[in-house]
Amino acid sequence: GADRTKNVLILMSDTGGGHRASAEAIRDAFKMEFGDEYKIFVKDVWKEYTGWPINNMENQYKFMVKHVQLWSVAFHGTSPRWIHGVYLAAIAAFYAKEVEAGLMEYKPDIIISVHPLMQHIPLWVLKWQGLQKKVIFVTVITDLNTCHRTWFHPGVKRCYCPSEEVSKRALLDGLEQNQVRVFGLPVRPSFARAVLNKDDLRIELELDPVLPAVLLMGGGEGMGPVKKTAKALAESLFDNETWKPLGQMVVICGRNKSLASSLESLEWKIPVKIRGFETQMQKWMGACDCIITKAGPGTIAEALIRGLPIILNDYIPGQEKGNVPYVVGNGAGVFTRSPKETARIVAGWFSTNADELKKMSENALKLAQPEAVFDIVRDIHDLAGQRGPLADMPYALTSSFSNLI
Ligand code: UDP
Repeated sequence: GADRTKNVLILMSDTGGGHRASAEAIRDAFKMEFGDEYKIFVKDVWKEYTGWPINNMENQYKFMVKHVQLWSVAFHGTSPRWIHGVYLAAIAAFYAKEVEAGLMEYKPDIIISVHPLMQHIPLWVLKWQGLQKKVIFVTVITDLNTCHRTWFHPGVKRCYCPSEEVSKRALLDGLEQNQVRVFGLPVRPSFARAVLNKDDLRIELELDPVLPAVLLMGGGEGMGPVKKTAKALAESLFDNETWKPLGQMVVICGRNKSLASSLESLEWKIPVKIRGFETQMQKWMGACDCIITKAGPGTIAEALIRGLPIILNDYIPGQEKGNVPYVVGNGAGVFTRSPKETARIVAGWFSTNADELKKMSENALKLAQPEAVFDIVRDIHDLAGQRGPLADMPYALTSSFSNLI
């Protein structure tokens, strides 16, 4: 029953962990595959609203990380024990109200959650509204390995896992085999499907055409030991005997403006490009030979697609920790927090240890799943087709969920 446009509501949050990148990847893939058949709404449930309790927090992100653990404890089990904590209840009430408002506004046929905390309440709201059977609810997990149990909810139609490791956890946590699919982490189609030539890219981006290139970054916010690492690389990639550089460096600082300006004020012995927030990451990755980054799932999945060996130099405690063994255990990179060690490894890769660089690049390509986002949207499309015509959904409010808390 594809006789009318179906509405898709993607619940995300812009608090790191690549949730926004994944949400946008899914939106773009829906457009590419199915054009006007679907109307996509991406909704940031945490940020968009004034009055949200954490808007005032100085360090929102750290709070979130801690918060995830709170919710994990509170939400575990079958009974809604989260109601017990006054603070959590306040948040839950607010959140439920917003989800409910979102339901009424967008009248979704399909809800996609790309956030660990957005299964329970939306599913509760659907139940209260009697829409459980009518709205397709799916989760797309954006952690590559270890992930919070709040991601898993037995009430979902599908739980899309980026790796076998995550799917094992889903099954252990009570999901059925027929709910779980393993396609990979959704990466923006502009990235996944780009046909790029390294030589052309180097000309376009004004990089040295022959020197090996290392890309240094720290997620969207430019986090981690970027400055120290840049300085150490400038030393290790300069050959003091021949007075020539062994390699060149690109530093992408993301939204971290003070990092960019502080790096720009320095003098460099090797060719260096310092950039702010880039919208064409596929080009910069395509022009380089390896990458140094914190363990963000988005950056990792993208680097694997470009076949870049990865040096992980940091991770956000909790959700990013498991991304480290995913990369290292599969032979696609190494982990070290030391800028000196990082610089030593890159210098080795660009001189005597080129074999290791090549091997790791091959391993990276083996792990890459550029088609994941298309597999996910096609599977959702199949689910929507099975559901038959969804027209005239009873989106009239019977009772307000938030009033019941
Ligand atoms: N990114 C970008 N431009 C930049 C820096 C980062 O488009 O200048 C993208 C990057 O390609 C990735 C996302 O931002 O898709 C970062 O996601 P990740 O999960 O690595 O880390 P987060 O910043 O979400 O913690």
